[in-house]
Amino acid sequence: MIHPDTSLKFLNPLIGSGIFATQFIPKGTLTYVKDSLEIDLSPNQYLLNNEVMRQIIDKYSYINEKGHYIISWDQAKHINHSCEPNTISTGYGFELAIRDIQPGEEITDDYGLFNLEQGFSCACGSPSCRKKILPEDLDMLQDYWDKKILPALINISRVPQPLMKFMDETSLREIEDYLNGSLPYKSVSHLRFRKNEKMHEL
Ligand SMILES: [Zn+2]
Repeated sequence: MIHPDTSLKFLNPLIGSGIFATQFIPKGTLTYVKDSLEIDLSPNQYLLNNEVMRQIIDKYSYINEKGHYIISWDQAKHINHSCEPNTISTGYGFELAIRDIQPGEEITDDYGLFNLEQGFSCACGSPSCRKKILPEDLDMLQDYWDKKILPALINISRVPQPLMKFMDETSLREIEDYLNGSLPYKSVSHLRFRKNEKMHEL
């Protein structure tokens, strides 16, 4: 589920649509949580779909740490990639505003955290555009992303959190335990799906 202060807007035929903030969203705000209505397909369930459906799933899903394809039931699936995003997926599974987002600004995140099965060329236009977004980005850039997340994570209890009530109990407990100091920070490295270690769980 995406933050309620957002709306879907058509951009152009090449990019399609994007998600835009309708209100000020402060740094440290949860902008996406995996709620109980999200579509969650195991790799085997994915393979049961025909080629046409797989292309749709590939376009709108992200792959979580279990290798499952997650498709949002709401407009969260239309968030576009940027190499300098204003939100980032965290090791806790939710996405976080890593800086203040102004009304009218497009909400973006970095697809490099989504366990990509293949890379893609990027022309996001940001000064630090990586030009190619690759499956190995999640291993190569995890420290860089963690450094972006940590200063925003300390704001979590200081800003309004309309999505907090939709978060699953495990993630909620983990983030509470991090904030009260009883658990260490959970790096984005936890998002990495490691095929060989997890195949027996499919
Ligand atoms: Zn880029």
